[in-house]
Amino acid sequence: MSPDEAAAHLSEIAYLLRHKGDSYRARAFTRVAAALLKDRPDLPALRAAGALETLPGVGSGIARTLGELVDTGGSAYLDRLREETKQSAALQRGPFELSPLVEMGYRGDLHAHTDWSDGGASVMDMALAAKARGYEYLAITDHSPRLGVVNGLGPERLAAQRRLIDEANRELEGITVLQGIEVDILEDGALDLPDETLAALDVVVASPHLKLRMEAAAMTERMLRAVNHPHVDIVGHPTGRRPGSRQGAEYDFEAVFRAAAANGVVLEIDCDPARMDLSPELAALALSLGCRLSLDSDAHAPDQLMYVDLNIWIPRRAGVETDRLINWLPLPRLLEVFA
Ligand SMILES: [Zn+2]
Ligand SMILES: [Zn+2]
Repeated sequence: MSPDEAAAHLSEIAYLLRHKGDSYRARAFTRVAAALLKDRPDLPALRAAGALETLPGVGSGIARTLGELVDTGGSAYLDRLREETKQSAALQRGPFELSPLVEMGYRGDLHAHTDWSDGGASVMDMALAAKARGYEYLAITDHSPRLGVVNGLGPERLAAQRRLIDEANRELEGITVLQGIEVDILEDGALDLPDETLAALDVVVASPHLKLRMEAAAMTERMLRAVNHPHVDIVGHPTGRRPGSRQGAEYDFEAVFRAAAANGVVLEIDCDPARMDLSPELAALALSLGCRLSLDSDAHAPDQLMYVDLNIWIPRRAGVETDRLINWLPLPRLLEVFA
């Protein structure tokens, strides 16, 4: 049992615990999963030595789960949680192996924030963290103005950020920083920035943040208008849900995903443990309708880039092959998708 496999199991347990409203234990499992990915301990050796509880954050309960994972490759606790939370039995293990992200072919993250909006680090610090992870590219996608509390960027600040990103790219070697935006999808489906501003960006992530509980027909219209917008490349966290605390938007997923596929608009699996949006079920639906997906961290700090490692189990459980995930594309091909 590799640390990656074990972390994926613990992350899924955390996800299901959130569904059950037990966010306290969910966070404990997430913390241990993150530590496994970071420290990469030799789990079979620790198991043999009876020393799993020496790992940071691991008490007797999590040690029991880890022990069982090492011994059997599975977890009865996870199976029980899946049953209790009525996870779709149709979902299968996807085809790819869980291994360190970059070894799997992941080339870059397309949704990350900086201190230009509500992130905690500079463009350069985020870029260096992405480079240290072995990425070829990182898209900086700060917020648009309407979400007032997050110091969103309008046209002028975006132009200033562009100059800074150009400068960073001249300085950096081995990684390209893309300038994007996470533009808010307004109630009527229009976007929170003018077209000419969006046209100047490398990538446009359009996300629903407010008024998620609109009536389904109106929400469908709103999302259809967004995926039909010529400048939208990716729909960020397409339902806006927060498992265990906030139900996401309900709309005609099939109609919206079909339109996204027809327009070449990519749907995101946002790997923030508080979001995990799309869910495995909706990712499987998107896949069946011909959509491409992106697997992003929505990081607000350098160490949060690892959210993608934590939740790599989602596309796998949805049966997504890596050729449907745009983060596997080399930069020139990626830019063709966004052109
Ligand atoms: Zn967002
Ligand atoms: Zn975001």
